[in-house]
Amino acid sequence: MRASRYLIATQKETPSDAEVISHQLMLRAGLIRKLAAGLYTWLPTGLRALRKVERIVREEMDKSGALEVLMPAVQPAELWQESGRWTQYGGELLRMNDRHGREFCFGPTHEEVITDLVRNELKSYKELPANFYQVQTKFRDERRPRFGVMRAREFIMKDAYSFHVNAESLDETYQIMHRTYCAIFDRLGLDYRPVQADSGAIGGSDSHEFHVLASSGEDDIVFSTESDYAANIEKAEAVAPSGERAAPAEELKEAATPDQRTIEAISQFLSIDATRTVKTLLVKAEVDEAGEESNAGLVALILRGDHTLNEIKAESLAGVAEPLTMATDEEIEAIIGCKAGSIGPVDLKVPVIVDRSAAHLADFVCGANREGYHLTGVNWERDLQLGQVEDIRNVVEGDASPDGKGTLEIRRGIEVGHIFKLGNKYSTAMNATVLDENGKTVIMDMGCYGIGVSRIVAASIEQNHDEKGIIWPDAIAPFQVAIVTLNAHKTPIVAEAGEKLYEQLKQAGYDVLLDDRKERPGVKFADMELIGIPHRFVISDRGLAAGTLEYKGRRDADKQDIAIEEALTFLI
Ligand code: ATP
Ligand code: MG
Ligand code: MG
Ligand code: MG
Repeated sequence: MRASRYLIATQKETPSDAEVISHQLMLRAGLIRKLAAGLYTWLPTGLRALRKVERIVREEMDKSGALEVLMPAVQPAELWQESGRWTQYGGELLRMNDRHGREFCFGPTHEEVITDLVRNELKSYKELPANFYQVQTKFRDERRPRFGVMRAREFIMKDAYSFHVNAESLDETYQIMHRTYCAIFDRLGLDYRPVQADSGAIGGSDSHEFHVLASSGEDDIVFSTESDYAANIEKAEAVAPSGERAAPAEELKEAATPDQRTIEAISQFLSIDATRTVKTLLVKAEVDEAGEESNAGLVALILRGDHTLNEIKAESLAGVAEPLTMATDEEIEAIIGCKAGSIGPVDLKVPVIVDRSAAHLADFVCGANREGYHLTGVNWERDLQLGQVEDIRNVVEGDASPDGKGTLEIRRGIEVGHIFKLGNKYSTAMNATVLDENGKTVIMDMGCYGIGVSRIVAASIEQNHDEKGIIWPDAIAPFQVAIVTLNAHKTPIVAEAGEKLYEQLKQAGYDVLLDDRKERPGVKFADMELIGIPHRFVISDRGLAAGTLEYKGRRDADKQDIAIEEALTFLI
């Protein structure tokens, strides 16, 4: 590709509404543009990276024996009524009517459609196991679309669905998919962890999520420093047996008053990633429905940093306790004694901890401690009874590491993949059967397997960047090699040498961007670094006179001169 004929679309300014680094860099490097909340156009450079992710996903899925299909994005309501999800799915499901008044939805996932297909196409156990996948556009009307393509409303997912005559066969395919996912994320060069996930709501038996480790991740994952144990926080809480209490919790119990010692004990007790920022905010509470905590006191909501005040309000209203009345900005400012958004050390009085998740309580205590808050009026006895400290104990005590090895760490993760044993939930509801060996009708077992293809592009950038921009791994770089010619418009031999190397590298199978623009060298270098091309050659008349090119790897500190003839072999 010649840069002079291409849409570079880089921007100097950091967009003010982009909170995380990948979102900022995807806009600045000209990968995406926003159309509306959660809706993005992929520009040529972004699309090249996205397609490479897709290609790796396809290659490994094909290798696993799965068959690619492509299902419609729009789905008839009837199928969702059959499975029961038309009423269960909630606000993320975008519903619509056609001109005849028939109801449809824009698919957030495809269990119903594939089950309908398979019940019509497959008749015998001999045709099983079968695994169908697609790479396709989904729509979920996310409550809070944010972080660019990381949590979009329209996004690209690879989703696969497997069908089986019995549970053993499902188990086999599940293991194959687990391995396939590891192969995919290895090839993508991501630092990731497969973790056990809670499969409660969807009603399956086994489930694993694949998380890319990044401080901007929206999920907490818990893993042992020494064993293979890893789970998402919901699972860690769900499986932990309650009742016993290890030494550190004992210490908590003994601490009769909510003094500094208690707080320190909890802080030490939890190894929390210090990069996680925590902000606390006071809001006014009204009586809740059950009449509990009805002292109309102040409620401390614990939220991770980087939220604007409005977002905190929206989240609190929607997620925590319905009857909460939010304090106005002025009230908050009066309470905390400084401008909302720049909350400084303050004495928190009567913090009733609404959100009972262990991670949040841990955040609260450690965050408050770290940021110099002094907690007063905490009724630990009552809060213990509320089960909050119990949650903490379950997560951190080692109960949740069944083998008891190592210490448990809690880190932030970006969910990039999710595999799931669905069992017969959909096949029963939709009567998806085959004949078994004895000619008997049996309900099929099902598994489903998702990968956030577009989210992966952002997740990769979260892990691979520096102050100059993106640093792509070779496997998904939009271009692998940049050739920058200096003053080529005035120096024909430089232009010629650039063209020659460009053709050679293309012949050798590289994706090459020849920066032949009439721009200053500094502008070209900055763009190539921002876009994150892993290898760069610079051609200048001075170099040519000495028979050399300059090479610099995107992660290298220094450039080096190499003989022109060696450029090709140098890359291999
Ligand atoms: P999350 O917990 O992030 O909302 P999910 O558990 O709802 O994701 P799944 O139903 O498991 O998502 O979908 C499979 C994959 O699709 C996820 O693992 C994730 O990588 C991706 N994905 C889900 N929602 C989005 C979104 N709004 N934007 C981009 N990718 C998404
Ligand atoms: Mg979701
Ligand atoms: Mg999830
Ligand atoms: Mg999931």
